[in-house]
Amino acid sequence: AKYEQSDLEDLGELGHGTCGQVFRMKHKQTQQIMAVKQMRRSGNREENKRIIMDLETVLKSHSCPYIVHCYGIFITESEVWICMELMATCLDKLMKRTKSSIPERIIGKITVAVLNALNYLKEEHGVIHRDVKPSNILLDTDGSVKLCDFGISGRLVDSKAVTRTGTACAGYMAPERIQPPDPSKPDYDIRADVWSLGVTLVELAAGEFPYNNCETDFEVLSSVLTSDPPTLPSDQQFSPHFTHFIAQCLTKDYKERPKYKKLLDHPFVQHYKSTEVDMATWYNGLLGTS
Ligand code: ADP
Ligand code: MG
Repeated sequence: AKYEQSDLEDLGELGHGTCGQVFRMKHKQTQQIMAVKQMRRSGNREENKRIIMDLETVLKSHSCPYIVHCYGIFITESEVWICMELMATCLDKLMKRTKSSIPERIIGKITVAVLNALNYLKEEHGVIHRDVKPSNILLDTDGSVKLCDFGISGRLVDSKAVTRTGTACAGYMAPERIQPPDPSKPDYDIRADVWSLGVTLVELAAGEFPYNNCETDFEVLSSVLTSDPPTLPSDQQFSPHFTHFIAQCLTKDYKERPKYKKLLDHPFVQHYKSTEVDMATWYNGLLGTS
């Protein structure tokens, strides 16, 4: 089905971030409830059309269970609208609501999901995510974990129109993105996403953003460059495999940092790939207690 702005009824805002707003909407003809992301677009209409056609195959691909399903995408006067599967929440909201950390076994399953999603995007579509962080990892009431917002930043969005909000985004950036080794070749490597995944997992395990003590974006960026990489909190018990996995992801020199194939073979990932974890019961239990 082709979607249009006039087919959709606004049911209220789900949230907003660095590059737009997300609304809960109803598709009038089918009564389908969905999440619609609206982003200020850059470039001219033809250019945008090309990028969208390019993205559509990825967005609409159904073959990976760990990426958020897209129903349609279209251009309005000044924006790009992406109609996607509505999920219950994102990990960022979940942590803010429960004000607590996430148990290792749950993080294990999240890691399996996100790594598989990132590897799938790269291998099948040549897409690099570029914005791995807790708010782009979504959860549903059935316990499923899915990645969203891939390949969008840096392609469709007018970077000058993007308003920086707080230190959150800067803090997921890999050292080589902050200070490119060869600025004449800003060639983006998936290993920057591996770093962002590492920061994200530490945040989930600690229940707080690892660069929380920094006051400004500049301090965060300096800290990423000059401090030791974040580690799991020492006051809690984590498995040696988890601790090692984090250290691998947060290797400061990207040349030494492993890529997806190696990470997918890591004992931490292998263990949680084959271990049953009742994500739905955990998630629904949180709803009852918070
Ligand atoms: P952010 O930079 O925080 O990711 P976004 O504009 O991408 O900003 O998203 C804003 C909020 O909308 C997110 O925090 C998330 O909770 C919510 N959201 C995005 N996509 C969906 C979806 N498909 N289902 C449910 N909630 C969503
Ligand atoms: Mg997002």
